[in-house]
Amino acid sequence: MAKLRLVLGDQLNSKHSWFKKADPDTYYLLAEMRQETDYVKHHVQKVVAFFMAMRNFAELIGSKGHNVIYFRINDSNNPQQLDQIIAQTIEKYNADIFEYLLPDEFRLDIELKEICSQLKIESAVYDSEHFFTTRAELAEFYHGKDALLMESFYRHMRKKHDVLMVGDHPLGGKWNFDHSNRSKYKGEVPIPDIKNFNQNVSEVLEEIQKSGIKTFGAIDPENFQWPVSREESLETLKHFCLHLLEHFGDFQDAMQTGENYLFHSRLSFAMNSKMISPKEVIRTVLNFYHTHKNQIDIAAIEGFVRQIIGWREYMRGVYWKEMPDFAQKNVLQNHNKLPYFYWNAETKMNCLKHALGQSLEKAYAHHIQRLMVIGNFALLTQTSPDEVDQWYLGVYIDAIQWVEITNTRGMSQFADGGTIATKPYISSGSYINKMSNYCKGCHYNVKERLGEKACPFNSLYWNFLDDKREFFSNNPRMTMMLSLLDKINPAELAKIKQKAKALIRNVDNL
Ligand code: FAD
Ligand code: SF4
Repeated sequence: MAKLRLVLGDQLNSKHSWFKKADPDTYYLLAEMRQETDYVKHHVQKVVAFFMAMRNFAELIGSKGHNVIYFRINDSNNPQQLDQIIAQTIEKYNADIFEYLLPDEFRLDIELKEICSQLKIESAVYDSEHFFTTRAELAEFYHGKDALLMESFYRHMRKKHDVLMVGDHPLGGKWNFDHSNRSKYKGEVPIPDIKNFNQNVSEVLEEIQKSGIKTFGAIDPENFQWPVSREESLETLKHFCLHLLEHFGDFQDAMQTGENYLFHSRLSFAMNSKMISPKEVIRTVLNFYHTHKNQIDIAAIEGFVRQIIGWREYMRGVYWKEMPDFAQKNVLQNHNKLPYFYWNAETKMNCLKHALGQSLEKAYAHHIQRLMVIGNFALLTQTSPDEVDQWYLGVYIDAIQWVEITNTRGMSQFADGGTIATKPYISSGSYINKMSNYCKGCHYNVKERLGEKACPFNSLYWNFLDDKREFFSNNPRMTMMLSLLDKINPAELAKIKQKAKALIRNVDNL
């Protein structure tokens, strides 16, 4: 009985139980498809990384004796659409059963159910064996509760998986060391080089160009820096433990010109494509922590653990709980166009020039750059969350809808009305100045809110609060911000608002 098993580009889990034993009657199907390269315009490094990772994965399982059917993007028999690829392969290999792994994206989930309902052969679906939680676990956890507070889910995860626990108590006496994790980087410790694999990806890049796929962003094809195999993913993790974990907590929120990664792990693509699992990441960092306690502070390890078993699993759970409605949410009724400089980083605002420039050049920005510079500006200029989502979904190496949309539309743009964040992540220029050295070299003055050279974030911030005052008036977490707004005298506020409106109208000239 011949079995056809589909492996999507973000399901490259070679440790899955499917691959325990090779079976001559089982065929694994992987396909590079225009359907996946064209649903949004992607950064060129993202397309290269996925194709490289898929090819490496196919080679890895092939070397273990599994039958692999692989469609490259320019293969003449590649129909470029999932339904056709599956139908064609079933016929060619005379398959009796079609099996797939639970996809992480809503659109693919629907599509695969639809495909299976049309097939004339049996089908079955399996767990991807990647996450700590099932799709429905978060919804079950919050059942009957009003708010989806991440912190309570995170504590539940710590206890359930016995991570950094002493009996029922958190190791170090506290669940959360966030307050210890907020230093500005002043060059006090050197930032180690990244784990660079110096890959030559010219061949796959040429294939992408030849196929006519439209991409954006920069690439150095002779020095590609992302891990695209399981081995490289494991090396990136090891590098993180040995050289970066120690200072991860301290400088988690810091931003610095010329430093794209600081002490961040660069593991998101490796994890989101499933080349490595969050469980092995957590196990490895905990082992490292327990054997290097004199070197690694509890705040650093807790800060990192929270990102993986907290935020990452939480976002996935919220996605499956809230989709598909989540993708339409725009409670603040923001409808402005995304500033054009999001596509070329040509702006006099130094913070955005750096954070956007780095995103376009490296397909990467770290969390605070994404949230408090790029997302903050989009929200303050009251940009349509649809446009913001499209940009984030395309630009980052790790952008897959389940983790992109929850972070962007939810956490960053507050378009969900507070399902994810209890208050909007907005700030004036002072926060950016506190956490970075961006303001030093800026055309604008971070201390001013009126005048030609005033930092745009300042008037935009007060204008946003005033425009959305009614919406936030019942939110206790906004009381302080709104009372500060009330302290601005009306004539001054009118000037600030006039300035902000003019900035929004002329945003492309900033
Ligand atoms: P590190 O800082 O080293 O963190 C370690 C890991 O923790 C990450 O690899 C990631 O897997 C996980 N993590 C950290 N924060 C989050 C979070 N908020 N949600 C989920 N996982 C988290 N992450 C994506 O993987 N894909 C996205 O498309 C994405 N879009 C984002 C959009 C916005 C507006 C914001 C604010 C954040 C977004 N994030 C996204 C979360 C976070 O910014 C990235 O996971 C992180 O920057 C990846 O870099 P790193 O691997 O060096 O992370
Ligand atoms: Fe950004 Fe304002 Fe600072 Fe310039 S002054 S870098 S625009 S926060």
